[in-house]
Amino acid sequence: MQNTENFIEIKNLKKWFPVKKKLFGGHISFVKAVDDVSFSINKGETLGLVGESGCGKTTTGRTIIKLYEPTGGNIIYNGEDISRLTPKRMLPYRRKMQMIFQDPYASLNARMTVGDIIGEAIDIHNLAKGKERLERIQYLLRRVGLNSEHANRYPHEFSGGQRQRVGIARALAVEPEFIVCDEPISALDVSIQAQVVNMLEDLQEDLGLTYLFIAHDLSMVKHISDRVGVMYLGKMVEIAESNELYSHPVHPYTQALLSAIPIPDPDEAATSQRIVLEGDIPSPIDPPPGCRFKNRCRFAKPICSEEEPELKDVGGGHLAACHLL
Ligand code: SF4
Repeated sequence: MQNTENFIEIKNLKKWFPVKKKLFGGHISFVKAVDDVSFSINKGETLGLVGESGCGKTTTGRTIIKLYEPTGGNIIYNGEDISRLTPKRMLPYRRKMQMIFQDPYASLNARMTVGDIIGEAIDIHNLAKGKERLERIQYLLRRVGLNSEHANRYPHEFSGGQRQRVGIARALAVEPEFIVCDEPISALDVSIQAQVVNMLEDLQEDLGLTYLFIAHDLSMVKHISDRVGVMYLGKMVEIAESNELYSHPVHPYTQALLSAIPIPDPDEAATSQRIVLEGDIPSPIDPPPGCRFKNRCRFAKPICSEEEPELKDVGGGHLAACHLL
């Protein structure tokens, strides 16, 4: 029996990386890449995750599927807390949760044929052998818009878009339920991006897949996502249904991010105002208390340096973390 609502529940997730130990027994500093993040994803839903480079979105995706062990918090998959399972008990979940990587070339073994790359995933989980295995590889290649004959070729013989299709076929080989798509189109030509996104949408509909779609292209995230979460320096600052977030962003950071999206209509573009963020994203090493956006926020008040704003419902399931709200 599967939970449709809250298929994936992330509660107070933390992923900290130790960076240095002070001399004479001082404390260890941590990069707090993901620091107390909570959200959920329903079955068959796409949750987009956006934010500047270094905001923790990729680390969040990798920690959810246990490529990284969480420092704290809980990952609940279809009602089962998988945060601290032993490798053996984690094995069935490794099959159910897959990842599509940003750079398909770096994530495919250049010395293996495409057939072996896809077949390796089938072998690890002992899903098919002999003729059935071969037929499954050929089926998966066709499913992602390639030919059966491509099984005998090597990754360098393919274009970037075709290599990403191989990466998707490899993820599908183990019949996953949940896929973390980590910037899957960022490295592709613009002309190819829409094809890959359309294919991901078709696969989702046909196979009932659930996606966490990580990206920095805000227009594409709006197109593919049912809901979108915005991260800043290891925190979730706003999360809402996709149209709601793009039409009524309430967090000052989200407002600035969205104001940078080019507007195709010249009349609309002439009346819209771009909010330029001053300064750089601060270091995630032991960040100071209060709101992490305070040094770049045009609305910052004294309380923003003292108290960390909580993520709260500002109406109709639209969540945001800001003292103004
Ligand atoms: Fe700006 Fe304060 Fe809101 Fe943070 S809490 S976004 S600093 S107004």
